Amino acid sequence: MSRDWGSLFDVDTDPEDLLEHFDTEWFRGQRYRHLSDERHGIERGTALVDDVVVRGYPSMPRALVLESAIRETFDGPVAIEEKLNGYNVRVARIDGDLLAFTRSGFVCPYTTRKVEALLDAEAFFDEHPEQMLCGELVGPENPYTDHDYSEIDEVGFYVFGIRHRESGTPMGVERRLDQCVTYGLDSVDHYGTFTPTAAVDAARERIDDLNARGREGVVLKSTDGETALKYTTSAIHRADLEHAFELPFDYGRDFVFTRVMREAFQAVERGESAAAVRERAQALGEAILQPAVETIRAVDAGDPVGETHTVRGDPRTIDDLLSYFREQGLELHVEHDETVGEQRAVTFTKIAQSTRDKTRYYLEGGTIDE
Ligand code: ATP
Ligand code: MG
Repeated sequence: MSRDWGSLFDVDTDPEDLLEHFDTEWFRGQRYRHLSDERHGIERGTALVDDVVVRGYPSMPRALVLESAIRETFDGPVAIEEKLNGYNVRVARIDGDLLAFTRSGFVCPYTTRKVEALLDAEAFFDEHPEQMLCGELVGPENPYTDHDYSEIDEVGFYVFGIRHRESGTPMGVERRLDQCVTYGLDSVDHYGTFTPTAAVDAARERIDDLNARGREGVVLKSTDGETALKYTTSAIHRADLEHAFELPFDYGRDFVFTRVMREAFQAVERGESAAAVRERAQALGEAILQPAVETIRAVDAGDPVGETHTVRGDPRTIDDLLSYFREQGLELHVEHDETVGEQRAVTFTKIAQSTRDKTRYYLEGGTIDE
């Protein structure tokens, strides 16, 4: 612990002040620290394992109007990639072990095991010991998100960034794609590199296609990987709302305004007719109201409400994952738990306590001041 954190992070503040914001956690008997919120310009999710620094993945701006946001953001070639909907994972090799960090800098026991099984990254890390692989863990069997991709049966890990773990400096897009091919790592789809003007039409075409296939959207990047911009499909706005209004008192409020505005700007940029806007409005309304009605009925029937996930793996990993969630204060309801040979598969619900309790309260006659 003898490093000069102040100069390493390039911050003016007293390094002790900065370190105070890190939480201490343990993984396989090893102590590590992580930053669960951005502080002094250091990204959320930055972790310290002994004196190794793993920088957080930076937050990325979103375009509401593609054409003007592309013009304002980029002055050189723009690479367009698919934006996958799973969860952000950084993989680093520290003291010979692969560790998988979630967005907020936890070493997730389940993700670490999956990544060990999915990735053959030894050769990559032999060549690039100081780099980290940044990617999206996607697929139906994961404990955080539940977007289905027809090409994935369980889970997959798709690289969208290679960064220096200590400085966070990204590798350029072309080189990153090359490295993925060289080392046999799956990459997010790359749709080509365009001038900013051509990127507008290219992104719009991709968005139409992704929307029709129920996929999330695109990320546009400068070729050095430093600047990124995200833009998403109407299909994912509706899917997000459906998810949020399944658990209205946990997520509803935060989700609704942002998604409605994304839809509104998208309709305007596309110059939609009154009929097209009406169709969009109807779909949006259904995405909000129907799941809320179903949830109130479920609470009324005494069924558990929350996010349901299925995970599969060796019994110890599954045990570690469930304990890790319970330690974080989550209440879990196990629906299905089955071990076949070496594989344990568990379906569980992370109970949405606010939704359950508030819904019950109103169903039993509770009133509201509004
Ligand atoms: P923020 O970027 O503000 O933290 P967020 O955590 O809500 O937002 P998203 O809206 O999902 O995240 O957008 C950014 C995330 O998209 C990245 O952190 C990453 O996990 C994911 N992602 C998926 N595909 C890509 C890609 N091709 N390039 C970069 N990120 C991608
Ligand atoms: Mg995401």
